[in-house]
Amino acid sequence: MITIAIDGFSSSGKSTMARHLAATIGYRYIDSGAMYRAVTLYALRNGWASPAGVDTASLTAALPDIDIDFLPQPDGTQHTLLNGEDVEALIRGIEVSEAVSPVAAVPEVRHALVAMQQRLGAGGGIVMDGRDIGTTVFPNAELKVYVDASAETRARRRYDEMTAKGIDVDYDEILANVRNRDHIDTTRSESPLRKADDAVLLDNSDMTPEQQNARLLELYNQAIQQSRAKNRD
Ligand code: C5P
Repeated sequence: MITIAIDGFSSSGKSTMARHLAATIGYRYIDSGAMYRAVTLYALRNGWASPAGVDTASLTAALPDIDIDFLPQPDGTQHTLLNGEDVEALIRGIEVSEAVSPVAAVPEVRHALVAMQQRLGAGGGIVMDGRDIGTTVFPNAELKVYVDASAETRARRRYDEMTAKGIDVDYDEILANVRNRDHIDTTRSESPLRKADDAVLLDNSDMTPEQQNARLLELYNQAIQQSRAKNRD
């Protein structure tokens, strides 16, 4: 079993693709963004986070009290648990989306979550998606994919997704949020979002979900063959 790292901007479709691959090949899927979102919800509830800034000292002191887990659902998806509470719906809302990037830029938060992610992935057989999985969490992953699409394409996808769920949203607000998170995620000093040198670029702006899934499966099959050949040497 190998380790698969899938990185990219918000709403690039990487989670859907990663989840689908994991289900197809029988690997565990971990959404690392959900972990940053859960920490953000915890900080918001305590009044330590807003789009304007983060009370780093209070949040850092509380990190040992934050437990994050995933609960598999009958439909094959999983829900995020924050200290045992199912917070899946809450962490997807605009309030958390607007506060998450500044929280994820706090080095202490990153250190704690990266350590948790490495524990979850020890032994391989995992597909993890995020921003720094191929560069920082699993730099030795056998397969690294970097997913890209324009900000407008990603905002449109998010708009359609939320509208389909009956959530009343404004496209311009979503586009502004996507652009703002892109900026913070790529310019922060601690493990900014960037393509690992050995990651395969997958621009899915003009691809259907089926084409993306097929391409990812093809990349997985190549990585498995390479890994087997290497182990035979
Ligand atoms: O993937 P998602 O959009 O849910 O992630 C939410 C936020 O969490 C991102 O905008 C980013 O700021 C942060 N994140 C991160 N590192 C990861 C995963 C997510 O900094 N590995």
